[in-house]
Amino acid sequence: AATTLVSQSSGADWLARYSSSLMGVFGTPQRVLVRGAGCLVWDADGKEYLDLLGGIAVNALGHAHPFVTSVISSQLATLGHVSNFFTSPTQIALAEKLLALTNAPAGSKVFFANSGTEANEAAFKLARRNNSDGKRTKVIALEGAFHGRTMGALALTAKEAYRAPFEPLPGGVVHIPFGDIEALRAAVDDSTAAVFLEPIQGEAGVRPLSAEYLQAAREVTTAAGALLILDEVQTGIGRTGKWLASEDAGIVPDAVTLAKGLGGGFPVGALVTFGSTTSALLTTGQHGTTFGGNPVATAAALATLHAIESQGVLQNVVTVGNHLREGLAAIEAVTEVRGEGLLIGFDVNADIAPAMVTAALDAGFIINSPGPRTIRLAPPLILTIDQADRFLDALPTLIATATANTAKDAQ
Ligand code: PMP
Repeated sequence: AATTLVSQSSGADWLARYSSSLMGVFGTPQRVLVRGAGCLVWDADGKEYLDLLGGIAVNALGHAHPFVTSVISSQLATLGHVSNFFTSPTQIALAEKLLALTNAPAGSKVFFANSGTEANEAAFKLARRNNSDGKRTKVIALEGAFHGRTMGALALTAKEAYRAPFEPLPGGVVHIPFGDIEALRAAVDDSTAAVFLEPIQGEAGVRPLSAEYLQAAREVTTAAGALLILDEVQTGIGRTGKWLASEDAGIVPDAVTLAKGLGGGFPVGALVTFGSTTSALLTTGQHGTTFGGNPVATAAALATLHAIESQGVLQNVVTVGNHLREGLAAIEAVTEVRGEGLLIGFDVNADIAPAMVTAALDAGFIINSPGPRTIRLAPPLILTIDQADRFLDALPTLIATATANTAKDAQ
């Protein structure tokens, strides 16, 4: 491993070097992680953690999954990269696989990127091309939306703190209230190029849109000639126990973006366009990327999808997800539990969520707080009932510790 190329240091030493060599955009990292296996990771000081965040919904099959690892290694040892003047079998096979898994109609196509943000950038460009008469300047997204932080994706993202330092952002984006069908009906008109929706808003604290909302969105966008683009970067690829979180709504969107879990930990993103008309909006020369669709990335995704299918992972997501939600709902300080499968958000009755993250780390659990009272769990999809129970058993103590530490800090 690359550990032979770097010196052995303690976590504290690494973090000191981090602060003097890396840009501070992520603040100070919580730990220095050196190794993972399944749902467990270890830090530079040898401490073990149960990973209930999975790199934020990325490590679909946990860490160092043997099959995914071996497919990536052998692909790398066979053909690592080709330019986009060429293609490779894994790229084509993965595109076909994604079209099959998303039930895409004839004429549907795939564009490969390297991240969720990049998939959304491509989707934004697709939306701009839905403008044959030059009047479709409006793109609609929701309050609370997170679609990425490059300039285009940031224009779609709602959070003012992310946006304000970078104005002017690409224009025409309108944010409307979350989950409000009437507001959607009022906003979508013949100047609308596209509506972007996350079926479950992840960064906003795991907030699901109803099937009725998604159906209404399909109806009004179709009527207005606007594209319905679903960002399933966080919710897709088994996260909810289905290939797409939007599956149950029974709608065919115009495009879906995917990333995170798709590569099982390897960077790969995808834009899937549905039907031949939408798929023809971006033509030769209108978009591109050096690494997108790289043989190793596409091999990683093929291996991930194969393992999810052959190892009963989707059923596990449903079973363990339901178990976790039931256990969480039974805890006194927990006021609300949201989400589906293994994308779970829960609220506590005081502003202790950040302190809970710290207490959890000390106790050997990795969790995340997208809000002052909200905890998000997005563990590997292979999490077991026993591992879920370890967390549920520890949670009352974590809440008590976080409450005490928050009170101490306030003094
Ligand atoms: N869309 C959604 C819904 C996301 O949750 C994220 C990442 N949190 C992104 C886009 C951006 O993806 P990436 O970080 O891979 O660029």
